[in-house]
Amino acid sequence: MELFDTHTHLLDERFDPDRDEVLLSIQKAGVTRCVEACCDAFGIDKVVDLCSKTDFVYGSVGIHPHSAGELSNEVLDKMADRLGNSKIVAVGEIGLDYHYDFFPRNVQRDCFASQLELARRMRVPVIIHDREAHGDCMDILRAYKNGLCGIMHCFSGSYETARECLDLGLYIAFGGSLTFKNAHNLQDVARRLPADRIVIETDCPYMTPVPHRGERNDPSYIHHTLEMLAELLGMSTQQLAPVLYSNSCSVFGI
Ligand SMILES: [Zn+2]
Ligand SMILES: [Zn+2]
Repeated sequence: MELFDTHTHLLDERFDPDRDEVLLSIQKAGVTRCVEACCDAFGIDKVVDLCSKTDFVYGSVGIHPHSAGELSNEVLDKMADRLGNSKIVAVGEIGLDYHYDFFPRNVQRDCFASQLELARRMRVPVIIHDREAHGDCMDILRAYKNGLCGIMHCFSGSYETARECLDLGLYIAFGGSLTFKNAHNLQDVARRLPADRIVIETDCPYMTPVPHRGERNDPSYIHHTLEMLAELLGMSTQQLAPVLYSNSCSVFGI
């Protein structure tokens, strides 16, 4: 069974002590592809470098709302250039985070919109981060719906929002939070979605699934999310895994 982790942060400093061992263990766990999500301007070339050194790792370039103040024309030009690399398959992670509000909301919205514009111009998918900002996030996505394609990462919205995301051409990504004991609402959303529009992710080292909560997350734990999703959809993991894998390949054009 082959698994595709659509959202990792393997460059996070929490992997500094043992990154090479983790990269080996991922493949042993059946995770044969993953996409490393970029978060800030400094990360752009680090992601490109990781992808060039590691066969099964693909990457994105983008400025996370936590770093929204870093976006400039120079950074956008750099991103456009790196998107010419065949291992760089998306613009992300981009979006809005009104939980932490590290940057004023208007700065976050401008940063998000400029990068959606870039993705449209370069005809590449986007990886969207939306934390406690569903209303504004959907407004901006509606404004960029022409040619929109990508993933709502670590989805946390309602069924209605999920439905609208599907209509806008997006896939819904579930991570470790789907396995949490109090995740009844999210599990109800997952149950009602078509398997051919879902992908899975770890968002490691964050969002560790049950039964490993409290530990550092890594892609080898993604099977816990797969198992929960299969149960919700009434499928076996053997049936579901190839569907999710092919969804992931098609969204990223791999
Ligand atoms: Zn995120
Ligand atoms: Zn992330």
